[in-house]
Amino acid sequence: MNSMKGKPMNHKKFEQMILTPEALTAEEREEVDRHIATCESCRKLSLQWQKASRMLNQPLPMAAPAPGFSARFAQSIEKRKEAEQQKQVRSFITILVISLLAAVLIFAVIYYSTNSLETIIKNTANASAQMLFLWESLKAIISTVTGFLPTVLLIPFLLTAASAMLTLTLLWLVSIWKLTLQKETVQ
Ligand SMILES: [Zn+2]
Repeated sequence: MNSMKGKPMNHKKFEQMILTPEALTAEEREEVDRHIATCESCRKLSLQWQKASRMLNQPLPMAAPAPGFSARFAQSIEKRKEAEQQKQVRSFITILVISLLAAVLIFAVIYYSTNSLETIIKNTANASAQMLFLWESLKAIISTVTGFLPTVLLIPFLLTAASAMLTLTLLWLVSIWKLTLQKETVQ
């Protein structure tokens, strides 16, 4: 009868209908649409509800079985990679040490067979003192850097360091050789 009296009652009914659109008959839906056209608060509610349900129906990126599983999976791959890299580094260092020892041995054989014992001892001591200093500094740098270097950079760094050590060893051999030649031309 009185439109002012009936309105809040209708309003509540429409709110409920707006929130459960899937439960409505075609007639009820039309009724809601007609009400929404005249009632701003219900129109707002309807829009908000539509937006909210669209968001709820969207598959969330984290909703898949993913989070724990993929993280663990990635971690195990990372660990395997690390272990493999460490293995590579170890075998590389082994090969390097063996070739260094071989180089020193070959050099020693040639050197000792062509020089007097006195010259050999003197020159080896001189050159060794210089090279030992460089070698020690290099070793300190390597152990410091490998402490905080990420695994990805570890291999390139170790390769560089190993090359530097190899060069240093060769320089050491050459310097002994040079000292020997100098002494012999002076004598
Ligand atoms: Zn309303």
